[in-house]
Amino acid sequence: MLMSHSMLPAAEAEQLILSLTQPLDARLAAETVALDSAFGRILATTVTSQLDFPHWDNSAMDGYAVRYEDVQQVPTALRVVEEIPAGQPPQQPVTAGQAARIFTGGMLPAGADTIVMQEDTERSGDQVKILSAPQPQAFVRHRGAFYQAGDALLPPGIVINAPELAVLAAAQCTQVSVYRRPRVALLSTGNELVSPDRPLQPGQIVDSNQVALAALVAQSGAIPLRMGIVPDRPEALKAAIASAFDQADLVISTGGVSVGDYDYVDRILGELGAQLHIRSVAVKPGKPLTVAAAAEALYFGLPGNPVSALVGFWRFVQPALRKLSGQSDGWGPPMVTAITEADLKAGGRRETYLWGQLHLSESGYRFQLAAGSHSSGNLVNLRGTSGLAVVPIGSTTLAAGSSIRVLSLL
Ligand code: AMP
Ligand code: MG
Repeated sequence: MLMSHSMLPAAEAEQLILSLTQPLDARLAAETVALDSAFGRILATTVTSQLDFPHWDNSAMDGYAVRYEDVQQVPTALRVVEEIPAGQPPQQPVTAGQAARIFTGGMLPAGADTIVMQEDTERSGDQVKILSAPQPQAFVRHRGAFYQAGDALLPPGIVINAPELAVLAAAQCTQVSVYRRPRVALLSTGNELVSPDRPLQPGQIVDSNQVALAALVAQSGAIPLRMGIVPDRPEALKAAIASAFDQADLVISTGGVSVGDYDYVDRILGELGAQLHIRSVAVKPGKPLTVAAAAEALYFGLPGNPVSALVGFWRFVQPALRKLSGQSDGWGPPMVTAITEADLKAGGRRETYLWGQLHLSESGYRFQLAAGSHSSGNLVNLRGTSGLAVVPIGSTTLAAGSSIRVLSLL
């Protein structure tokens, strides 16, 4: 694939990035974790159960287990032969003229095929009077009605959240095979950068990107490898990138990808044998975006501007990271339709992302543009961001009250 020298439209860049991203190998990159530690992980194998769900015919109600043929003429009286609480198998079958007292979840006794709920009965001694005729098989949850033993219970590639944990627990799957977490190396390039804990000299800038990107990487379920600040010297950069390729499944650098005299990243990638696929995308902020594929890892060179770096991560890196993690779909970026509360302005030549707050109200999503300057250097204005409004190429204004697309960060 030849590198594109022109600005690539965002949707094309996204497709290209996803096509370059291979999921971790489920066989080589699986690890086994205890059920209690599986929350948020990606399932690596199909989970099956040897049991049907429900495991046996049981009652969905508190009431009486009866033979349908005995209760077609009502009222009628039946003799109660036993009591079946949940968790205790029935001791005897129900025969003609008999009923068994049963509670929700209780196993249906042999002979019975229908539950009469207790509200439709009157009890006196060992007799129960059935007051209204039930439907055949009423309130019986049949064995295997929800799931049949041996079928796929959970497919690989899904995120294990609370419902999946419940299913795994029900299947007694206490050891879960999950994808290992991808390793993501983070490099901040720039002679002017100092880490947040160092004294700031005139002209220097604090490296705010690394801590923020590390948080986003961790939030995506991957392991951030913080490789620190790398000066804009070709040998230093080359050594750092080579080492990142050695350790990581995905590499993210910030800075040094525009066309300034100190921007060496693209050349070095070539020297390290990586194939350059993208150099710039038609988005604002974040036009300079380098995407390259090396044998060991995918490389994202994000712009240094803190806003551009985060927008680039949300828009382009996160979907790749989800695919790399083994997630089989839903890579994103998650787009929702929202009503904008303010006019949104853009230049019209690049797909523009305006940051602000996304709220879910009863009438749907609303987007509140962040007050203050939308300059890509204005990091302060980014606080509280929970959505990026998208102004498409060709549009210069989206009027307040209109329906827009928002990249959701909720
Ligand atoms: P660059 O993409 O290297 O040309 O950097 C663009 C702007 O972002 C410059 O003003 C840099 O000082 C600033 N910048 C670069 N890297 C970082 C970083 N890691 N944290 C905060 N600002 C940065
Ligand atoms: Mg720089």
